[in-house]
Amino acid sequence: MTRGWILTLATLVPLMPITAQQPSVSPWPERLAIAAQYRVSSITTRRFTQDHFRRAIAPSLASGAFEVTEVGRSMQGRPLTTVTFGTGPVTVFLWSQMHGDEATATMALADIFAFLADDAPNALRDRLSRALTVTFLPMVNPDGAEIFQRHNAAGIDINRDVRRLASPEARTLKAVRDRIEPDFGFNLHDQSARVQVGPGGAQAAIALLDPAADEERSYGPVRTRARQVAAFLARDFANAIPGRIARYDDTFNPRAFGDLMQAWGTSTVLIESGALPDDPQKQELRSLNAAAILGALDAIATGSLDAEDPDQYQSLPFNSGGAYDLLLTGATLVLPGVGALRADVAVNFDDSVARIGATIREVGDLTAATAMDTLDLSGRFLHVTPDVMTISSGGGWLPIGSTARFVVRETADPTSPELSRLP
Ligand SMILES: [Zn+2]
Repeated sequence: MTRGWILTLATLVPLMPITAQQPSVSPWPERLAIAAQYRVSSITTRRFTQDHFRRAIAPSLASGAFEVTEVGRSMQGRPLTTVTFGTGPVTVFLWSQMHGDEATATMALADIFAFLADDAPNALRDRLSRALTVTFLPMVNPDGAEIFQRHNAAGIDINRDVRRLASPEARTLKAVRDRIEPDFGFNLHDQSARVQVGPGGAQAAIALLDPAADEERSYGPVRTRARQVAAFLARDFANAIPGRIARYDDTFNPRAFGDLMQAWGTSTVLIESGALPDDPQKQELRSLNAAAILGALDAIATGSLDAEDPDQYQSLPFNSGGAYDLLLTGATLVLPGVGALRADVAVNFDDSVARIGATIREVGDLTAATAMDTLDLSGRFLHVTPDVMTISSGGGWLPIGSTARFVVRETADPTSPELSRLP
């Protein structure tokens, strides 16, 4: 009896911590302050060319903190360049803007470069430098960025070219992956501003995904680690935008880079920047990206990632699409020269982030429709401005796709008091 009791005491001893405490991840406010302090001031809008971007990051790249390597050329001959930081054993690969009109993370990377380039003492920077070797490939699609379009110069969606590798941009991305065989990958995109956090939920500012590596969407060790990163990011972004974070659909897509990166053994997460109210150039989202990416890198560097609860990610509502930008409900629609009738109107913007280029998408009973913004105009009269109508000798039409331009008035009489102009 006595002997057993002593053994029990002895077995307790090894349970006590015997190693020095792990450093904890830099707190969110500290990283948000870094994003503000190192913000590259020459980038102020989400539409910029590669030439502009290269000039903006040139001071950082000249610091000596990075290894800068031209790794390929776009179809139109623009250089594709990797920027590598740190000398640690864990390898991380981040690439942005495969879709030329998705620039939010590229802006964040510019700010992160400025932070990493500084040689002032900083614990976070030191941790990243010692624990990680981080390779960035910003703006994978510079030809698309030149005219702010999704596709490359040949009209190819680079993120659907992973099997064929027909485009030089996709070939370069694959070649960098094969050379460094990264432990972790960050696939940085922007998604539509018309996506909600679950059906009828808030506008999704961020959507996360740990892409599936097979049709069965199984969780082997590689994807499980990716889910830990996604769980960290879900918790981290919630510091600033709770309720505005969604999950991206995880159906396996064998044409997409994120899915195959996962299959090739790189624990990969997708970060999609959607939109925030009153952030037409996504400058707020840029800062949140910079802070969260630095946090995820720190979570990898410190090893704190292992403690993340997968449910933080898996309990996020899914992205829900199909919403309109603006829904005008309850009004009587007045069509000059045609007549008046009870009709709701759905409006989308060509640029739904900056809310520019409004067109009419649907007219009628839209009580089941969802929208980012809904305006109740019950009892009001929504006058279509005459220049918007298609007029011929046969009459007047309001075709779907017409410019959305309305005057809200008190009555159907076009001379009645004007209340407002929309949108
Ligand atoms: Zn994209």
